[in-house]
Amino acid sequence: MREFGYERASDVSGAVAVLGADPEARFLGGGTNLVDLMKIGVERPARLVDVRELPLGEIEVTADGGLRIGATVTNSDLAAHPEVRRRYPALTQAVLAGASGQLRNMATVGGNLLQRTRCGYFTDVSKPCNKREPGSGCPAVEGEHRNHAILGASEHCVAVHPSDMGVALAAFDAVVEYETADGKGELALADFYRPVGDTPHLETGLPAGALITAVTLPPAPVAANSVYRKVRERASYAFAIGSVAAAVDVQDGVVRDARIALGAVASRPWRARAAEAALIGQPAEGATFAAAADAELAAAKPLPDNRYKVPLMRNLIVALLTELASEATR
Ligand SMILES: Cc1cc2nc3c(=O)[nH]c(=O)nc-3n(C[C@H](O)[C@H](O)[C@H](O)COP(=O)(O)OP(=O)(O)OC[C@H]3O[C@@H](n4cnc5c(N)ncnc54)[C@H](O)[C@@H]3O)c2cc1C
Ligand code: SF4
Repeated sequence: MREFGYERASDVSGAVAVLGADPEARFLGGGTNLVDLMKIGVERPARLVDVRELPLGEIEVTADGGLRIGATVTNSDLAAHPEVRRRYPALTQAVLAGASGQLRNMATVGGNLLQRTRCGYFTDVSKPCNKREPGSGCPAVEGEHRNHAILGASEHCVAVHPSDMGVALAAFDAVVEYETADGKGELALADFYRPVGDTPHLETGLPAGALITAVTLPPAPVAANSVYRKVRERASYAFAIGSVAAAVDVQDGVVRDARIALGAVASRPWRARAAEAALIGQPAEGATFAAAADAELAAAKPLPDNRYKVPLMRNLIVALLTELASEATR
């Protein structure tokens, strides 16, 4: 590993001032992704600003009944928080489905959202990769793409975002709060990750040097009846090959509200708006759920080796909706 500077930030304004003045500096959360990437030469920051002791480690119920989650809350503390478990059970399940207990104890909310793709070409610096080195090419399209994107990708990059937590946050309309040396801002999660297009190296809408300070979840009564399901290649810890966060409200046999987001299918947690639209006002039954899944997956453009994801996601969406609808009517 190359030499780098390290400092521990004690206040937000000091932390953002360092990154505002030094484009080669990076924030360090739990380090569970950044340090790994530094070891293999994918990331080469000159300076790390450790944010773990900033006063951003609280989870609060907001005045309107939502939740505000500090950016340095660990994944373990987020999953265990009683209000998260009660109001957004799919979020707890998503976080617990990610990584291992040891990693979750270190990993932070901000770092989880900004973790990089696990595409094998991205992490192999001997190979070209448009995300790591703009304009160098995307070998995954013709090569190894078994676990890659079926939605929203481009010929320039077909990698998926690996976060489980982000999928549940997308389903529940999370808003990311940030701060730079120029002031505060916020981005809805729906706009947080940029479309791939021909700039896969530009992953988010965050301004340069922005520190994520919190993630806010608006109140969503439907989220109390929610679930996260992850398909992976082994039962021990592994990234998803497909996942779904879903919530439904059923009254008198009709779907009144629905939230669905998909994981491991796109460069960002994928909010399934077409599926949601196909559910609202329809009878809560198998044919409706299948039609909703088909409405979303009609846009899928799989590559030869990841076609399996289309039926996998269809089955997963239908299974979760069936399960939730029966819970809602019990
Ligand atoms: C073996 C293994 C298995 C894993 N399995 C899963 C899995 O199944 N599902 C899953 O979702 N994840 C998984 N992960 C990923 C893990 O969840 C991430 O590494 C972790 O969430 C990153 O959080 P961190 O705080 O350690 O981030 P760091 O590694 O510290 O940082 C990641 C990035 O975020 C930036 N950053 C950190 N905090 C902030 C902030 N507040 N503001 C702005 N920028 C910030 C850093 O500069 C860096 O660019 C796995 C990781 C490993 C090593
Ligand atoms: S899929 Fe994206 S991350 Fe993977 S090689 Fe292609 S450009 Fe790089």
